[in-house]
Amino acid sequence: MLGIKAVLFDLDETLIDGQAGLKATHNAVAKRLRHYLVKCGAKVSEESIRAKLRALDDRMNVATEYNRDAWWPVLLGEIDAGQKISRSLVKELTRLYWATYAGASKPYPNAEPTLVYLKDKGYKLGLVTDTDGKKGWKKRRIKRFRFTGFFDTIIIGGEDTPHTKPDPEPFLLAASKLGLRASECVFVGDKPFTDIEGAKAAGMRTILLKRRDWGVGERADFTINSLAELPRVLGDTE
Ligand SMILES: [Mg+2]
Repeated sequence: MLGIKAVLFDLDETLIDGQAGLKATHNAVAKRLRHYLVKCGAKVSEESIRAKLRALDDRMNVATEYNRDAWWPVLLGEIDAGQKISRSLVKELTRLYWATYAGASKPYPNAEPTLVYLKDKGYKLGLVTDTDGKKGWKKRRIKRFRFTGFFDTIIIGGEDTPHTKPDPEPFLLAASKLGLRASECVFVGDKPFTDIEGAKAAGMRTILLKRRDWGVGERADFTINSLAELPRVLGDTE
């Protein structure tokens, strides 16, 4: 890919296995919430809570509403068990969500080898990811990964910049921290409506890593199904 000096990545579902993380997370939250509702006398199954949470998770992601505290009253309304949710349970569910997700979303096996390869090739590397909805939480989550050390810059949209993706701000800040123009960067991400739309708006080239079909959003310059295809995409177009 001619003139490209940096490869910037999204985190969740791009470098780490968010689907495994979400599965464990939805199970844990559904279990806790059912326990609470049954104690209140409601009749509701764990599976029905889980199904509603899965759908809500997608909707909130498309709407870029990342603060889980805002999710739980909506979820309870949809379960329609006639129960209000207390502030302390809201906080507990948000903590449970992120603790479970962080423990269950491991790096994809080819994430680190891909970063090592690109570094060896002389590319600068960056991570452009969005806030988890509470200041500081995402940074803590990122720090746990060994590959964090490979990045020349890490930008958290909605914390390091006023707006999250798909606003061009976080992408442009990453380019400027690397001392590069946006046109010298290529962005790799899994969500067409945040990663691809935002990077494109910033003037970067884009690679969609297709982990699933979101049914919405922008077309990228290239589409790949695995990180292993990245060297070929970057090299073949020189
Ligand atoms: Mg992602």
